[in-house]
Amino acid sequence: AKRNGKHRHELFHPSMATEATRLVQLEHDLRQALLEDQFEVYLQPIVSQLDGSLVSAEALLRWQHPTKGLLTPIHFMTFLENSNMINDVGQLVIDRVCQYLAADNIDHQLPDNLRISINVSARELFHPDYVENVKATLLRYGLTGQRLEFEITEGVAIQSIADAIEIMRQLKTLGITFALDDFGTGYSSLSYLKQLPVDTVKIDKSFINDITHDNQDAALVACIMAIAQTLNLKTVAEGVEELDQADWLRQYEGVCMQGYLYSKPIPMPDFHQQWKKPAA
Ligand code: C2E
Ligand code: CA
Ligand code: CA
Ligand code: CA
Repeated sequence: AKRNGKHRHELFHPSMATEATRLVQLEHDLRQALLEDQFEVYLQPIVSQLDGSLVSAEALLRWQHPTKGLLTPIHFMTFLENSNMINDVGQLVIDRVCQYLAADNIDHQLPDNLRISINVSARELFHPDYVENVKATLLRYGLTGQRLEFEITEGVAIQSIADAIEIMRQLKTLGITFALDDFGTGYSSLSYLKQLPVDTVKIDKSFINDITHDNQDAALVACIMAIAQTLNLKTVAEGVEELDQADWLRQYEGVCMQGYLYSKPIPMPDFHQQWKKPAA
């Protein structure tokens, strides 16, 4: 280091090189992952509060990394969403989900017309070919949009609410429904909730965590439930881990539950084994 180094602004720090190297490596690895089919789609059940029966499921991306093992999106989603690769990965997820739903030997084991939720990021939704690609995928597998729900965050509205609404309308004509994800964590959730044509509100895990002993969180969830009821929206509570939380939520009729209390996200082949519809 230079003599005066301590008092200078450091324009370049070794950690920046490390970070840059990491990102170059990540981009390379992600391209490889697409080429070599390393992505997997896991499913997490969303269940009824009444009897714990299966209502729907959320598709969650996993990356079977050749050296690092199974990676969750926290390790790569921000990077993907900031690159065009999210479009390819998003298409892969829709394709896998539709393929799964259309497979005869699987579909007959699932509750009739089970709907699967897919996370869609803003960049995907606004891609000029998005609606056409979704339509083509449904057609290819002989499915209607009634088998899919798209989960979006209010981030999509920030770019252009009018455009977001228009794209959502087009997808809704196919039968696809929409959920507003991570509700309550953004800046202007209420105005977006009012304007976007959504069917379901997903209450973020951060509100559910301490719901049984934090009065503020409890009051906020009560508000969200009241809003959802007023706007005639379905509700899903994310991240339900404990029986106490589920019991607390049960005071609200109709709220569906998603969380480790019921099941972690699991590989597709395990899903229909574990969540078979009851024998007729
Ligand atoms: P999210 O949409 O809020 O999904 C819920 C996350 O909470 C998932 O994390 C799920 O595994 C986790 N989770 C569910 N129940 C519990 C619980 O009881 N306790 C705890 N601690 N966690 C629980 P995951 O799978 O790591 O995904 C993280 C985020 O990555 C998702 O958050 C979603 O925003 C994004 N993501 C996942 N798959 C996709 C995808 O295919 N496309 C896009 N665009 N984003 C995706
Ligand atoms: Ca989600
Ligand atoms: Ca969330
Ligand atoms: Ca999310």
